[in-house]
Amino acid sequence: MSFPARLEIPEDVLEIARRLDAAGHEVWCVGGAIRDALAGARGTAVEPSDVDFATSATPEEVQRLFRRTVPVGVKHGTVGVLDRRRALHEVTTFRRDVTTDGRHAVVAYGVSLDEDLARRDFTINAIAYHPLRHEWRDPFGGADDLAHGVVRAVGDPAARFREDYLRILRALRFAARFEFRIDPATWEGARAAAPGLAQLSAERVRDEWFKGLESARSVARLVELWQDVGAAAVWLPELGATGRYSEPEADRPPRDPLLLTVLFCAQPGTVLRRLRASNAEVARAEAMARGPEAPADATPEAARRWLARVQGAADDLLALWRLRHGAEPPWASVVAGVRARGEPTVRGDLALDGNDLVALGLPRGPRIGEILDRLLDRVLADPSLNTPERLAELVRTWLRELG
Ligand code: ATP
Ligand code: MG
Repeated sequence: MSFPARLEIPEDVLEIARRLDAAGHEVWCVGGAIRDALAGARGTAVEPSDVDFATSATPEEVQRLFRRTVPVGVKHGTVGVLDRRRALHEVTTFRRDVTTDGRHAVVAYGVSLDEDLARRDFTINAIAYHPLRHEWRDPFGGADDLAHGVVRAVGDPAARFREDYLRILRALRFAARFEFRIDPATWEGARAAAPGLAQLSAERVRDEWFKGLESARSVARLVELWQDVGAAAVWLPELGATGRYSEPEADRPPRDPLLLTVLFCAQPGTVLRRLRASNAEVARAEAMARGPEAPADATPEAARRWLARVQGAADDLLALWRLRHGAEPPWASVVAGVRARGEPTVRGDLALDGNDLVALGLPRGPRIGEILDRLLDRVLADPSLNTPERLAELVRTWLRELG
C-alpha cells in the first residue's frame, strides 16, 4: 500500500511536535490517530484530540518543555500534554520492555523508533508518521494489514499476549470496531493465552469490555469474539447469546455499555461487581434487571403504576426493550403522555405530605407512610384526585371507617 504524501495535522497538535523537534528531539505521531487517519474515514485528516507521540525526549524533558502537562504514566514514559485548546495528547518516550509479567512492564528508554514500534501490540498500531518531515515508518506492514482488514500481532503472537494479556481483548475490540479479521496465527496465540486473562485487574478488563461495546460496528461480533477466544469464560461466564438483539439502526456507536451488559448477561449485578464497576452502575444495572420490563398493559393507569414501581429505571427499561425487540415499545408514547401531563407517580408528587396528615389528626408513626401509599394508589388510578382537598377528604373517610 502507498502512503498519502501527507496527513493534515491540526495546528495545535503540530505545535507540540515543533517544540520537541526544536529542542533537538525525535518526534513521531503513532497509534490510533495515525491508524484512523490512514483508514481514511475522514480523508487524511488527523482527529484534533488524542494524538499519540513517540519521542526520544525523556518524560522529564517533556515535562520541562511544556507548561501544561499531566503525569498520566510517567513511570512508563508517558506524559500527557495539553494543547492550546486543552485537548490532551500523550507523549511517550521511545521505550522497550525489559521485563513483563502479563500485567505490567518495566521499560527502558534510549532506544530507536523501530524498537519502540516493535513493542506495540498490532501492526495497524505500529505505524509512525513524522508530522514535520512527512515521512512514514511501517516496519511490520501495518498499512497493508489496514488495507486488507487484518488484526495481526507484531512479532510472535503467543509471546506478545503473554507479555500483556490485555492485548487479547484489544485485538477483539479492534476486530469488532473495524470489522477486521484476526490473522490466524494471532487468533491461535490469543486463544492459547486466554487463560492468562485471569491475571488482569478487573478495572482494565472492564475498560476494555466497555470500550469494545461502545465502539464495535457489530456488537454481536464482539460478543462472539469474547466467547470464542475464551475471554468470556474467564471474566463473563454470564454472557449469553446476543439472541434477538438485531443491531437496530438507532444503536450505532457510541453506545451505552452498561445497557448492553444488562442485555447480554444473566445476573448483571454480579458481573458488574466482579468488574469493579461503581456502586451507581451496579445499582443502575440491578434496577434494570429487577424490572418489570413493561407495564401490565398500554393504558395510562398501567403506565403510571409501572413508573411508580421502576422510578428512575424507566428510561433504561424502555431502551432495553427497544434493543431486545428492535422496535419502539407500544407503551412508550403512553408513558410520555403521563410525563407530559405531569401526572403523579411517586409519593413526593402527592398534593399532601406527612405533615399535612398530622395536621388532619393522624398520630406520627408508620401509619403515616401507609396512608400515603394508599393515597398514591388511588391517585395512580385517578390523577384528578390529587388535590389537597380531595386527598384530605379521602383521609377523613378512612379515619371515620376505622372509627
Ligand atoms: P484508541 O485510542 O482508538 O482506542 P489506540 O490504538 O490509540 O486506540 P491507545 O490505548 O490510545 O490505543 O494506545 C496508543 C498506542 O499505544 C497503540 O496504538 C499501540 O501502539 C500502543 N499500545 C497501547 N496499548 C498497548 C498494549 N497493551 N501493548 C502494546 N502496545 C500498546
Ligand atoms: Mg489512542
